[in-house]
Amino acid sequence: MNVTWNPNWVRPFESGWSILEKFKYANVLTSRDLLREFGKNSVKNLKGTLIGRQHRGLLKYEGFNQESLKEALMININEHTQKYLSLMIGMFPRKTKTSYLLRDNLNYCKICITVGYHSLIHQFKFIHQCPYHLCELTDSCNNCGQTSYFELSNHNKAGGFICSCSNHIVDFEHYYIAWNFNPEIKNKILEQWLNLDQTAANKVQKTYFYFPGLTSKTNSLEFLLRFVAE
Ligand SMILES: [Zn+2]
Ligand SMILES: [Zn+2]
Repeated sequence: MNVTWNPNWVRPFESGWSILEKFKYANVLTSRDLLREFGKNSVKNLKGTLIGRQHRGLLKYEGFNQESLKEALMININEHTQKYLSLMIGMFPRKTKTSYLLRDNLNYCKICITVGYHSLIHQFKFIHQCPYHLCELTDSCNNCGQTSYFELSNHNKAGGFICSCSNHIVDFEHYYIAWNFNPEIKNKILEQWLNLDQTAANKVQKTYFYFPGLTSKTNSLEFLLRFVAE
């Protein structure tokens, strides 16, 4: 398959959802087309229009043949994801479930979406504002108000960043020119968190946290930074 793609369109902290929606947009593909082309053999040949949830995960890319996806994207999307997840949540004890720390629903920044960008940080439960634009995050389609899961979409619309209502979740003009967005983190607390030194990271690693309590605070990261500094 000849694809339209530029690996420089993949930006720091960009989520797999964002990368694959861009790829779908640039090549006018549905999620099904994407899996038919780059899915594991067992997924490629599935019948029907719906795709099981277990094949649409965007943290480990279980449904994909990672080699063929790598060839098309010219980057290893799984390594990209693990690298940024590790900076963001890798300091928590190993057994911590990612579902304690990452939102199931897609949360996004409307300004970021207009430049074809969604960040893993937007899914981080300790963050409530876009770290680049400092505006509130939203979790619903601008057109119909539906929420979506943070996973490969399961509708049959060709293109990217589209809701099951057939509209783009946020209106935009044409992407390509904006796809070199430089995500500069303006949230100083988050910046400190992403740059924890080894001693502080070890302290987090060895601590038992009650995550429902921690994520219900509005200032969890400040709380954690004070804790590691003690
Ligand atoms: Zn933003
Ligand atoms: Zn919608």
